[in-house]
Amino acid sequence: MKQVHARNYRRIFFGLLFSALVPILGPNSSAQAEKRIIDLTHPFDETTLYWPTNKSFHLDSAHRGRTEKGYWYESNDYSASEHGGTHLDAPAHFAENRWHVDDIPLDRLIGPGVVVDLRFKTMPNPDYLIRAEDFHEWEHQFGTILENSIVLVLTGWDQYWPSKKDYLGTDLPGDVEHLHFPGFSEDAARFLARDRKVSAVGLDTPSLDYGQSKDFKAHRVFGEANVPGFENLHQLGALPTRGFRVIALPMKIGKGSGAPLRIVAELD
Ligand SMILES: [Zn+2]
Repeated sequence: MKQVHARNYRRIFFGLLFSALVPILGPNSSAQAEKRIIDLTHPFDETTLYWPTNKSFHLDSAHRGRTEKGYWYESNDYSASEHGGTHLDAPAHFAENRWHVDDIPLDRLIGPGVVVDLRFKTMPNPDYLIRAEDFHEWEHQFGTILENSIVLVLTGWDQYWPSKKDYLGTDLPGDVEHLHFPGFSEDAARFLARDRKVSAVGLDTPSLDYGQSKDFKAHRVFGEANVPGFENLHQLGALPTRGFRVIALPMKIGKGSGAPLRIVAELD
């Protein structure tokens, strides 16, 4: 008799607890999903920033409206350079006989991430060259960057998006002389690619190389080492220093030198 009672009480207790928690947590609520997954991607539309010499994003409506048969139908055509907005640089972009977009193994694009926050150095200097020394200093504080990590550098440039003048340094079409934003130095690229054997790198500026670069050394070092790059990343400041997984899935353009990228971080 006592046992039956206890079991009933337990059932009532857990029943009440469950019904109290479901509205808060939800079985799979979107609030919970939004908390766990952070979108690091800028949208592709008429405001999306492209390199001054590249073709920007265009969306042309092929059809939008009710058809003769009465149903709704929408379809668009789009065009753009591979290299603009949030996108992937394949190693083949600046290195011969290296991976194109469709060659990159998926395990180089999905993996544990770290955020290296260098805003205190980059924000005061739009021509800042990220050095190997910056990563040594970061490692001293947060620990060694492990092999196969995806290293994301937070420069703070995201805050200027989508102002062409502030983000790129120039808003003149074709002007590559007055580009000003931070990027990786050659020795920083060597350190990450060779000494740390990272899977991929990314940052919240238009290019792996800094704006004033004329020889694109960082692109060439990363390309040579088959390290893919992610450019124009969004809201890196919302990520913890570590404890998240990057999922970076570019459009699988056959023989692409780059591609539009949907990139998210899944928090542990
Ligand atoms: Zn690119």
